[in-house]
Amino acid sequence: MMLRVVLSDSFPGEGNTATMALHNHGEVVLLLGAPGAGKGTQARFLAEALGVPHVASGDLLRVNHQRGTPLGRAAQEYMDRGDLVPDALVVDMIVDRLDEPDATRGALLDGFPRTVPQAKALEKRLMQRGGGRIRRAIYVDVPTDVLVERLAGRWLCRTCQATYHETFNPPEVAGFCDRCDGELYQRSDDQREVVANRVAVYLRDTLPVVERYARAGVLQRVDGNQSITEVKTALLNAIAEDEAVPA
Ligand code: ADP
Ligand code: ADP
Ligand code: ZN
Repeated sequence: MMLRVVLSDSFPGEGNTATMALHNHGEVVLLLGAPGAGKGTQARFLAEALGVPHVASGDLLRVNHQRGTPLGRAAQEYMDRGDLVPDALVVDMIVDRLDEPDATRGALLDGFPRTVPQAKALEKRLMQRGGGRIRRAIYVDVPTDVLVERLAGRWLCRTCQATYHETFNPPEVAGFCDRCDGELYQRSDDQREVVANRVAVYLRDTLPVVERYARAGVLQRVDGNQSITEVKTALLNAIAEDEAVPA
């Protein structure tokens, strides 16, 4: 058995719910989906259920930018246009992150891999680190027209990167994070013109990654066009069902 399910009542309103912990060294779960699909919103919860860190390539790039690192500076022009940052930069950043001690048991990857070369580099790295592999790729599926509304109303915390929506998921106090009281801001790449490019880039470069994992038999599709709570429940069921498959 690769995974252990702990039955608990600890998720409010969900009754007797299964959580899954990754125990095998280096196993990763991928959270795939278009920009605005709800990956970041769900990832915090899912990472907790899995007992592994949430590793979001976009968050790491934005932190690099805030700190003015060479990587942050190199990535900025691509991010501003809604284009992908070159594979080599992003792969090195993620590999370094996966080498940190808290990720030795595995990680939940959000926003990576976004191209087939990134997927291949990740698979190679996991193999080299002895026994690592992609345990599951979860695809949060949302129709394209819904994405624009979600991104146009998105607000992020400068301090902890938590995500809100002015209509669908407002903070308790406008402009401030519920979790850490940090200041909320809107991403410049969430403007409609940039969003259109990001969605086009996603269809061209990232859908082939989704197809790759469907062919490999590790893809699980979740309907992301439901309320945040409903998606949460569907994701929890997806990782619990995962366990039902004999190892
Ligand atoms: P989204 O909300 O679209 O999922 P992210 O925060 O994941 O956005 O990414 C923001 C931007 O960071 C992307 O438009 C891209 O420029 C860059 N980026 C993030 N992850 C990757 C990646 N795996 N490969 C290349 N570029 C990336
Ligand atoms: P991603 O990380 O996939 O780009 P986010 O998690 O940042 O997406 O979500 C994009 C925006 O949509 C955010 O403003 C978020 O609050 C909102 N959102 C997320 N999930 C839902 C949902 N199920 N229904 C409505 N709005 C949502
Ligand atoms: Zn915060």
